[in-house]
Amino acid sequence: MDYPGNLFVVAAPSGAGKSSLCKALLELDSRLQPSVSHTTRPPRGQEKHGREYFFVSQQEFDAMVEADAFVEWAHVHANRYGTSKKAIEDRMAMGADVILEIDFQGAVQIKNVFANAVCIFILPPSWEELRSRLERRGEDSSEIIDMRMKNAQLEVAQVGKFDFVIINELFDRALFDLKAIVHSQRLKISAQRRARAETFRALNIL
Ligand code: 5GP
Repeated sequence: MDYPGNLFVVAAPSGAGKSSLCKALLELDSRLQPSVSHTTRPPRGQEKHGREYFFVSQQEFDAMVEADAFVEWAHVHANRYGTSKKAIEDRMAMGADVILEIDFQGAVQIKNVFANAVCIFILPPSWEELRSRLERRGEDSSEIIDMRMKNAQLEVAQVGKFDFVIINELFDRALFDLKAIVHSQRLKISAQRRARAETFRALNIL
């Protein structure tokens, strides 16, 4: 599929700082739009249907799987999450760049459908730092933190399937790295040809 927009996929073990980095990037970059996923998990806190997620029942999720409505979906921490084709194709067709914040299983599936997708993996600087971030977050019991740490070991083993890796030691440095990846992707010849087709035509460049 050849859309004018670019597709960025960010994955990371929980606690590595993926959400904060994506949020900061989206605030700085108006050409970038988030994709809103569907999930079977219930809303948390102030989360709103259609903003953070489309919160759906198991039956509704099944029906979407059946109708082939997802580009990718996966079981994550006992719930199901999926990116609908509609969530990204409409935006990319209009020329927007879309960023997906999904788990590593989803990222690998996306690459099979969108070969041009830019897959970015965020690593913590060390296992000790990851554990202390999860502890500082104060959201999980120590059993859950142990489980997240175990999952993190499996997830980081997949890093070789990604195009870029950012080590999130200092937030500002990691954000700079993320911005640099997005910017250089936009300047690639293949991306410029898609985004600036008219300029290329006017310059008689085939
Ligand atoms: P949370 O429930 O904390 O919002 O998200 C749990 C995990 O699910 C995070 O790693 C998040 O990135 C991932 N996730 C969110 N949306 C999707 C999606 O559409 N597909 C996949 N594969 N993972 C997702």
